[in-house]
Amino acid sequence: MARTGKQYLEALRQNPPNLWHKGEKVEDPTTHPVFKGITHTLARMYDMQHDPHHRDVLTYEEGGKRYAMSLLPARSKEDLARRSTAYKRWADTHLGMMGRSPDYLNAVLMAYEASAEFFGEFADNVRNYVQYVRENDLSTTHCLTNPQVNRAKGTTEQPDPYIPVGVVKQTDGGIVVRGARMLSTLPTADELLVFPSTLLKEGPGADKYAVAFAIPTNTPGLHFISREALAEGGSGYDYPLSSRLEEMDCLTVFDDVFVPWERVFILGDLAKCNNAYAETGALMHMAHQVVVLKNAKTEAFLGLVSLIAEAIGADAFPHVQEKIAEVIVYLEAMKGFWARAERDAKPNQYDLLCPDRGAIDGARNLFPRLYPRIREIVEQVSASGLITLPSEADFDSPVGQYLQKYLQSATLPAHERVQLFRLAWDMTLSGFGARQELYERFFFGDPVRMYQTLFAAYDKEPYKQRIREFLGWARTPQPEVIAGD
Ligand SMILES: Cc1cc2nc3c(=O)[nH]c(=O)nc-3n(C[C@H](O)[C@H](O)[C@H](O)COP(=O)(O)OP(=O)(O)OC[C@H]3O[C@@H](n4cnc5c(N)ncnc54)[C@H](O)[C@@H]3O)c2cc1C
Repeated sequence: MARTGKQYLEALRQNPPNLWHKGEKVEDPTTHPVFKGITHTLARMYDMQHDPHHRDVLTYEEGGKRYAMSLLPARSKEDLARRSTAYKRWADTHLGMMGRSPDYLNAVLMAYEASAEFFGEFADNVRNYVQYVRENDLSTTHCLTNPQVNRAKGTTEQPDPYIPVGVVKQTDGGIVVRGARMLSTLPTADELLVFPSTLLKEGPGADKYAVAFAIPTNTPGLHFISREALAEGGSGYDYPLSSRLEEMDCLTVFDDVFVPWERVFILGDLAKCNNAYAETGALMHMAHQVVVLKNAKTEAFLGLVSLIAEAIGADAFPHVQEKIAEVIVYLEAMKGFWARAERDAKPNQYDLLCPDRGAIDGARNLFPRLYPRIREIVEQVSASGLITLPSEADFDSPVGQYLQKYLQSATLPAHERVQLFRLAWDMTLSGFGARQELYERFFFGDPVRMYQTLFAAYDKEPYKQRIREFLGWARTPQPEVIAGD
């Protein structure tokens, strides 16, 4: 059932993840200076599910109870539209800057549940697990890629067989896994999904890496080792995004972690691991959430750069207008991908309606290339305004009078102008802004290999044929001549 922010925070307090920051165990992420911001942001998002203005968008009703809309099985285009309206509602609250809001992986879980037959003997484990997540409205994160030790070598050729996560043994109660995954964002989730991602090749010893499961983030032997914080607290005025949305990224270590059988979804089946995302529709649903999120993010950048140009009178210059128009074009392209993903949706073999793969592939391959340009446009339009940024405290100090005078703008008093530019800084130049760019470049996978996959999978034949016909190399098949005509 849809839970409240208080319930989320209480659960986290009682069962904190095994999370390490700068050599210390984080005992209570809800009060820790680095993790307090994100946990309370997520709590506010959960609370929205109970707010009469948002409840019907963010949740659906079944058997007299309300559940997260992102777990509504997609059977019709109306379902898809309800799902994406919910994605957008949450995304707008964080300007599309939160990658692991629970709807992201709920989209995957919903697809796995609807296509549970794919998992064969583990199908009921998948169904029961998703039902458990739905009933308790849990937040999940995931870790996919192996540690970046030697990319020139395959999974089975690393210096230690348990650098990638592999199964050490099977017991009556479950399996024991050892190794590490390179990255989990949002360690303060309730659950960790350990799904396959890297393409697994057949070969001696490869089977042990063919595994998928889910465990609570406080499971013994599991460790999230976090990077340095992008902002340790700070005021919402000075750090509008980093103080609220520091999701955190962690190396994720499995030191002989026990996974009970009921939490195992794939074991020893390489083909299943390699096909799980595409065949279950998880890929299309996950990317559907992403397309909506990137729409929200592009809208936020358009609003931001428009206000900035207006504020300093730069919108009078044709080249600035052209740059802002460029962002408009990108936004319209993203809207187009979103609309077509739903318009051309098709059911998969398990009767799950999946957003159109072509639109999804277009969006997820294009946005990583657009994003650095959007960021660059903000820098080009904002110029020194992006760096001459006193803090909130300066306004209350003896030099505050100077700020009022010299940092006023054509449309805004100094306090608001600095607030606007601080947001621009946090969206682009700050540690938070820089991470966002790296995130957009890579979070859905290595862009180089994603293009290669698209090249290999895309049906180019109809377009090649058109050129052949245009050049007169091949004739369009003529209608059959019916005998007697
Ligand atoms: C901010 C951020 C947050 C993230 N959050 C998560 C998360 O929550 N969960 C999660 O699972 N993952 C997460 N990721 C990881 C993301 O999935 C990976 O970054 C992505 O899959 C690329 O893998 P990699 O970083 O290991 O790069 P690598 O695979 O190590 O690539 C490094 C370089 O080598 C090249 N290269 C490597 N192998 C090949 C090859 N076979 N052929 C051609 N070129 C190759 C790449 O093109 C690239 O230039 C996150 C990443 C970032 C940056």
